Amino acid sequence: MQNYLEQLNDAQRAPVLQKDGAMIVIAGAGSGKTRVLTFRIAYLMSQGVDPFNILSLTFTNKAAREMKKRISEIVGSSEAKNLWMGTFHSIFAKILRFEADKLGYPSNFTIYDTQDSQSVIRAVIKEMNLDKDVYKYKQVYSRISSYKNSLVTVKAYFNNPELMEADAMAKMPRLGDIYKSYVDKCFKAGAMDFDDLLLKTNELLTRFPQVLAKYQNRFRYILVDEYQDTNHSQYLIVRALSDKFQNICVVGDDAQSIYAFRGANINNILNFQKDYDDVKLYRLEQNYRSTKNIVHAANSIIEKNKTRLEKVVWTANDEGAKIKVNRTMTDGDEGRFVAGNIFETKMNEQAQNGDFAILYRTNAQSRAMEDALRKKDIPYRIYGGLSFYQRKEIKDVLSYLRLVLNPKDEEALKRVINYPARGIGQTTIERVTVAANHYERSMFEVMQNIDKIDLKINKGTKGKLQDFTTMIESFQVLNKSYDAFQMAEHVSKKTGLVQELKKDGTPEGIARIENIEELLNGMRDFVEEQKELADTTGSLSEFLEDVALATDLDNDKGDEDRVALMTVHLAKGLEFPYVYIVGMEEELFPSGMSMNTRAELEEERRLFYVALTRAEKQAYLTYTQSRYRWGKLIDAEPSRFIEEIDAGYLEYLTPITEHRYRPLLDADIFEDVDKSKLRLRKPQGGTPPKGPTEDQLRKLRRLRPVASDTDKNFNAKDANLQIGTVVEHVRFGKGKILKIEGVGADTKAEIKFENGGLKKLLLRFAKLNVI
Ligand code: ATP
Ligand code: MG
Repeated sequence: MQNYLEQLNDAQRAPVLQKDGAMIVIAGAGSGKTRVLTFRIAYLMSQGVDPFNILSLTFTNKAAREMKKRISEIVGSSEAKNLWMGTFHSIFAKILRFEADKLGYPSNFTIYDTQDSQSVIRAVIKEMNLDKDVYKYKQVYSRISSYKNSLVTVKAYFNNPELMEADAMAKMPRLGDIYKSYVDKCFKAGAMDFDDLLLKTNELLTRFPQVLAKYQNRFRYILVDEYQDTNHSQYLIVRALSDKFQNICVVGDDAQSIYAFRGANINNILNFQKDYDDVKLYRLEQNYRSTKNIVHAANSIIEKNKTRLEKVVWTANDEGAKIKVNRTMTDGDEGRFVAGNIFETKMNEQAQNGDFAILYRTNAQSRAMEDALRKKDIPYRIYGGLSFYQRKEIKDVLSYLRLVLNPKDEEALKRVINYPARGIGQTTIERVTVAANHYERSMFEVMQNIDKIDLKINKGTKGKLQDFTTMIESFQVLNKSYDAFQMAEHVSKKTGLVQELKKDGTPEGIARIENIEELLNGMRDFVEEQKELADTTGSLSEFLEDVALATDLDNDKGDEDRVALMTVHLAKGLEFPYVYIVGMEEELFPSGMSMNTRAELEEERRLFYVALTRAEKQAYLTYTQSRYRWGKLIDAEPSRFIEEIDAGYLEYLTPITEHRYRPLLDADIFEDVDKSKLRLRKPQGGTPPKGPTEDQLRKLRRLRPVASDTDKNFNAKDANLQIGTVVEHVRFGKGKILKIEGVGADTKAEIKFENGGLKKLLLRFAKLNVI
C-alpha cells in the first residue's frame, strides 16, 4: 500500500499529497487527471480521513465504480464502499431523498427520464390547444431544461422580460405557461426530472442554512473530475458545499470542454482561482496514454483555438504509427473499410474486439458501421441511443415498479393502467384525470376512492379500477420484505405482462420476453453487488434510482469483448488502443449546426481533440465523398480538421474515390490492397486523390472470384487450395500453402510468402490467386 505513490510521477504526486486546501489540476488529455483523483482519495483515507467525509463527483457512475474498485485495491480494505462517489445527479438524488419533505416532495419521488418529461410536455401542449408544429415538444423541453440549469425557475422566468421576449420572438409566447404547467404536473405526480435534481438541490442548500451546514460538515473533502463540463447549477452546488472547509480538488482540461450547448461553462475553470482563498494550481504535462504521433497531432489541432489556456503535453511513449486517413465513396464503403480494417488488425496484431472504438459525431452514423460489422461477424456494442431501460417492455415493468413506490407517478400509471388490457378505456382514464384535477388528488387516490365519488363510470369498470389499485397495494405490502429482484419477478408474473408477450408468439414478442429476463438477471446482480459494494439491501427504491440515472455506459459491465460504437461526447475520459473517427466531413464534423460563430467552431475543435486523444496506439480518420443527409444524397467535403493536423503526422491511404469505377467494383475488394503502393500525398490545391490505376483494377478483378467475404460456405478444395499450392496475395506476393485448418467460413491457411514471411490467413478474406 505504501508504494502506490510510486505509481505517480512527481507532478501527479504533488496534488495527491496536498491534503488540505483548494486546488485545481489543469492538464491535457491522458496526463493522469483521473488517476490523481483516485490516488488522492486513497491517500486521504490513509491519512485517517473518514470515507464518509469524502465526496467525489465523476462524469459517469461507471467511472465512479471503477475508481472505487481501484481505491479499495490500494487501501486494501472494504472501507471504500462508504465513499460518496458518483455523478452529480446520482449523488444529489440521494440527498434529495433524505430532505424531500422540506421541499414538499415525498421521499419516494419518481425521477422522470427524458421520455417521461417529453410526454408530459406533449400533453400540456395539447391541453393548452397550442399548435404542435410551432411548439415542438422536444424544443420546448430543451428550453425548459436550459432554464432550469441556469436556475431560472418559473417565477424567475416571469420576472424576466428579456427571456419572455426571446421566447416570443421564437414564436413561442406561451412558453412560460407551458413551463408552469409542466412544473405543476411533475410536482403533483411526486416527480423530479433530471434538471430538478440539481435545481432542487440548489434550492435546498440556499433555503435551509442548517441543511447546508450539515452537508458542508459531512463533505469535508470534495473532488470533481471533468470540471470543465460543469454547468452553472452544478458549479453553485460545489461552491456552496465546499465553502466552509475549502478542501476542494477539481481536475479538468479546458481543451476538452464539450458541453457548452448544454450549459457547461468554461468560466468555472477560469474563475476557480477567484472563488477560494488560497488556490494552488497544478499542471500535468506528461501524457501516458498515446503515442508521440497522436499527442503531437492533437496538440497541432488544439493550437488553432484562440480561446484556450496555454498547456504543454508531451509523452515518453513510442513514436507510433501515423494517423491514417481514408476516403471512400459512400458511407457503406466507409463502414466496410472500418470493419475490414478491424478484422485485419485483429489478425495481425492479436487484438481483442474491445480494443477498438468507432467514434462519430451523430448517432445516425452508427447504422453503416453496424451493417459492416455484422457482415464480418464482429461483435459490437452501441452506447447511447435508446438505452436498454427505455425499451417498451422494460419500461412497462419499470412503470409497475415505480407505481409500487410512488402511486402518484402519473406517467407510470397511464402507461400500465390498461396494459395488459383489463378493460379500462380511454374515456374512463380521462374521467379519472378530470376528477383528480378537480379534487387536487392523484389519479391513484381517485381510483382508491372511486365508490365515494360521483363519476360517470359504471359499476363493472369501477370494479376494474379497484382491482388495479388493490393489485398495486398488494405489491406495496410485499415490497416491505422483498428485494428489488424478488419484486420484479413477482410483478412481471402477477400483472400478466409476461403472459401477454407469450401470447404474442412473434419473434419480437420472444425477444421482449428475453429482454425482461435480462432485466431480472441484471436486478439479481444489482442486489448482490449492492450488498457487497455498498452495504445495503438492494431494495426496489435503490434499484429504481440507479436505473433512472444510469447512462448507457453504466450498464456496461466490461465483461463482453465487443467493439465500442459511440458519439464523441460519450467517449470523454475513455481510452482504446485503436480509434476510428468516422464521418470526418464538413457540415458533419464540424457539425453544420455549430459553425455560426467562432465559439461554436472552437467547441467542435475541442470535440475533435477529445476524439483523437482517446487513441492509445493508432487513430484512423475516415470520410466519404457522398452521404445521405436529410434524405438527400449530398457531395461531402473532407473536414477542415484533417487539414488542420500537421501533415507530418498523417498518412493518406488510397480510398475508393473515382466514380467511373464504381459500377465495376465491390468495395470490399480493396481491403487487402497493398496500401503502401497506393499511398497518396496530402491533396494540394484541391486536386482530389487519384483512385487505383487501371492496371491495379485489372489485377483486383482477376483476383476477385477466389473468395468473397459473404462466402460463408467457403471450401478450400473448391477454390483449388491445398497444401503445397502456390498462390499470390495482393499484399504479400507469392507464397506456398503449408497448412490448412478449420472448415467453412473459418478455414485458415498458413502460408509461407517469398517476401512477407509466415502468415496465417482466413481464406474467405484472403483473395488468393492460384498460380
Ligand atoms: P482525460 O483527459 O482523457 O480524462 P486523464 O488526464 O484523466 O485523461 P487518465 O485517464 O487518468 O488521464 O490517465 C491516462 C492513462 O495513463 C491511463 O491509462 C492511466 O492509467 C495512465 N497513467 C497515468 N499516469 C500514469 C503513471 N504515472 N504511470 C503509468 N501510467 C499512468
Ligand atoms: Mg480523465
